[in-house]
Amino acid sequence: MARLLLVSNRLPVTVRTSSSGKAILDRSSGGLVSALGPIHDAGEGLWIGNPDGELDDGAREALSHGRYVPVHVTQEETDGYYYGYSNSSIWPVFHYLPERASFDRSQFQTYRQINQRFADAVVKVTQPGDTIWIQDYQLMLVPGMIREQVPDAQIGFFLHIPFPSSEMFSLLPERQEILQGLLGANVVGVHTYDYARHFVSSVLRVAGVHMREGAAELGGRRCEIATFPIGIDVDYWQQLAASKESEAHLSQFREHFGDRKIILGVERLDYTKGIPLKLEAFRRLLELQPELRGNVVMIQVVVPSREDIDSYAQQRQEIEQIVGQINGEYGSPGSVPIHYQHQSMAPAELAALYRIADIAFVAPLRDGMNLVAKEFVASQLDRSGTLLLSEFAGAASELGEAVRINPWDVDGTADALANALEMEPSDKTSRIDAMLERLRRNDVHRWATRAIRAIDRPAPSMTTLPPAREPDELLELIKPRLDRAIKPAVLLDYDGTLREFENMPSDATPTSSIVRILENIHADQRVQLALVSGRDAKTLDAWFGHFDITLVAEHGAWMRVGKNAQWIMAESLLDDAWKKQVMGMLDEYTQRTPGSSVEEKTAAVVWHYRAADNDLGKWQARELTTQLEYALANQPVEVIEGSSIVEIRQQGVTKGAAFRALEQTFGPFDFQLAIGDDTTDEDMFAALPESGISIHVGNTPSRASERLSGPPEVRAFLRSLFPPAE
Ligand code: UDP
Repeated sequence: MARLLLVSNRLPVTVRTSSSGKAILDRSSGGLVSALGPIHDAGEGLWIGNPDGELDDGAREALSHGRYVPVHVTQEETDGYYYGYSNSSIWPVFHYLPERASFDRSQFQTYRQINQRFADAVVKVTQPGDTIWIQDYQLMLVPGMIREQVPDAQIGFFLHIPFPSSEMFSLLPERQEILQGLLGANVVGVHTYDYARHFVSSVLRVAGVHMREGAAELGGRRCEIATFPIGIDVDYWQQLAASKESEAHLSQFREHFGDRKIILGVERLDYTKGIPLKLEAFRRLLELQPELRGNVVMIQVVVPSREDIDSYAQQRQEIEQIVGQINGEYGSPGSVPIHYQHQSMAPAELAALYRIADIAFVAPLRDGMNLVAKEFVASQLDRSGTLLLSEFAGAASELGEAVRINPWDVDGTADALANALEMEPSDKTSRIDAMLERLRRNDVHRWATRAIRAIDRPAPSMTTLPPAREPDELLELIKPRLDRAIKPAVLLDYDGTLREFENMPSDATPTSSIVRILENIHADQRVQLALVSGRDAKTLDAWFGHFDITLVAEHGAWMRVGKNAQWIMAESLLDDAWKKQVMGMLDEYTQRTPGSSVEEKTAAVVWHYRAADNDLGKWQARELTTQLEYALANQPVEVIEGSSIVEIRQQGVTKGAAFRALEQTFGPFDFQLAIGDDTTDEDMFAALPESGISIHVGNTPSRASERLSGPPEVRAFLRSLFPPAE
């Protein structure tokens, strides 16, 4: 397996000095570390991240021994990069809470600078064949920065927080740079299909890059978007929950709470977690159901986090104020309704809380995944708890058997709490069983291996540069095969292949030399010759109508198989209901965009904006493309953004389909030669059998087997292959 270079903001270890003065590494806990730690230990790769604090020589040596590469970030830089741009700009925007966000250019500059430092650290240690996997929103520029220095690196990126809708994402002043950074990866992984969908629409609308089949095509390279929901280590939680230490905590809790029902909340201090609204829902429950007072308690654990940021400090105050009010309103000397703790807890104690809770109350306003929900399910050794889960947590898309709540609906949430307290034991058991089964199948180890495999996978069918050969060599390769053939087919593109481009397409008329070449080929009685062009039938008729050869117009929409034959429309074009719908939309965009125009072809409709204001045109084109993709989702058409155009093209009408039609009419052939210069010709090359010969015109990548540099070389080659009769 390839060497894995993991890159995360923090290294997963801290360095401690033992009593004998030796530096020792302590591994931190947490979902990511439990997934990637064993992979790091078992392989030979490196983990690159911030070591947290100053390192002496002993510490450096211990890190290097464990294959950890420290990237230092000073306190001042942490303020700009981590507390600043990462957590005061990206975090609130990506969680749909822009009113919590602040945007400060100098903080972004620090973010960029630290991202560059991480990228440089990776580049310094990377070797050919390594797989690089970058984690999370603090490092979104790193993939692009590595790509710049190592163009063929295998780079994966995983985003652990939500990817917001493109409208929300666009609030970030540096949205372009962030997207370009991410697109430097081969694979961008997210937790849910919704996040993937949002990413695709931002790539299209903000970066103007079109994505096809889940991947952006970026000049000979692809960036794929993939969904890998992170799991948990189910065995770890089950063993922990059954451990002696955890049992001891459980007995203590049982003694303390007696037969009171327990509603449990465990969250890091964060305004995305919806803790104040949760407390309000609990207050509403006690208000509406007085009989519950004294019989139900809420345990709310708040793990300290990011209190250097004002909005976090305020959130803490708000929570503590509400807790105080509720305890004041509904408490009595013997019973406190809310047990509040602003401290983290040991894992065994947490597992005991998961076990004793009747309800886990997980109600984030937005959460990339939410591991607490999954850990609660895994720790249900008695299968007696109920999970209340916000529909805005990524985990909700996997945990369909949870009681789903909308955290903004305080009354609805209070009702859900009341119902959950009454839930039948058999109902609880079957819900937990179904969720547990799914968590087992998709645990954290599977998450990591799936993601790494996706990054490792070679990019699918990328085209490369066909070999460069001397004209004589090419001729020697092809001529003997042509001579042996009984029924050869020759397919030629026109513009850019036989004939050089002109500024005005109507000026690119066939020269006498081209006409002679066609006559020479046609003189070979065995050969089926087809001119396969993007031009319309009228033009081809005017230029080549007198030849008894096959003419294919509009990239395969029309075909004429001989001098006296009729032009026939490709079969797939008979149903063109989509066109009406498209023309209506294009008219609207043409009105909105002065200078733009619509061109109707048989198999396509094209919106041109070259003559319109450039920025407005581009902007409208992206909006139009998004709208078309939704409107035409079930139609047999594809939407293509080209240079100052948006083309809506009927699928199945290609030069490849034209070749197949030719084969049906005249074939089978025992020799096939196709020559063409642009992307529509690639379809023709793809349709040839493996033994066929395809020649790409131009010195750019292509799936063709051979290449020639331009029309003069094509003409010279064809003259040698089909010399004039003596
Ligand atoms: N957790 C912890 N200490 C505690 C309580 C919880 O480390 O005192 C862990 C918990 O087990 C879970 C993580 O913190 O793995 C919280 O992850 P989650 O996805 O729910 O939220 P995040 O904090 O990542 O936004």
